[in-house]
Amino acid sequence: MNFYESTLDTIFTRIEAVRTAVNQHQIIKLVAVSKSVEPHHVETMYQAGQRAFGENKVQELARKNQALSTLPLEWHFIGRLQKNKINALIDLSPSLVHSCDSLELAVAFNKRLHVKEKTLSVLLQINSAKEDSKAGVMPEHAIETYLAIKETCPNLVLKGVMSIGAHTNDVALIQQSFETTYRLYESLTPHGAKVCSMGMSEDFELAIRCGANMLRLGSVLFT
Ligand SMILES: *Cc1c(COP(=O)(O)O)cnc(C)c1O
Repeated sequence: MNFYESTLDTIFTRIEAVRTAVNQHQIIKLVAVSKSVEPHHVETMYQAGQRAFGENKVQELARKNQALSTLPLEWHFIGRLQKNKINALIDLSPSLVHSCDSLELAVAFNKRLHVKEKTLSVLLQINSAKEDSKAGVMPEHAIETYLAIKETCPNLVLKGVMSIGAHTNDVALIQQSFETTYRLYESLTPHGAKVCSMGMSEDFELAIRCGANMLRLGSVLFT
């Protein structure tokens, strides 16, 4: 039994406990955020049964993808994106980009994807607590932006929404930010939204209570 098997076990037990408590029937997908660890940790986590991993820098994703190219891993990109990294990211064919945060960025992606005759699955990042320090579209513009991306970017496959909980110790405010994202997710399900990516190491149980079906966990898994 490797070290990470018991870590994953503990996390899945915590996830199931909340799911049962709030009668949540959706399957919850876990993305292991590996940004702070070297590839051999990813490999050990893979051997423990984990398949989806998240990185927030294109170069790091490229490096780890290369180092672990023999493993059937599913890479998620969760970081802020500069336009000059779009081509490099597309060439890595990530499973899902969580951090599409404007129509402008979506259009830039679409243009390059069109040239390369590829498609890419993305989430629309929402700045649900309206924080200056965070990327994402403002909640009041989320629906129109989502629909505009759907309309104008045929090479993007919009899968849903992502957000980071409010940066505060006030649990009520964090909850509010998750509820904002979940409400938008619900309104977008008739337009094909299937993923509500929210919840990190410090707040994932609350995120599940608020309806998250994809969690991005780093420190709680790797330390
Ligand atoms: C780092 C990161 C995470 C994971 O954070 P932890 O607190 O280590 O679980 C999740 N989402 C994003 C966007 C991140 O940058």
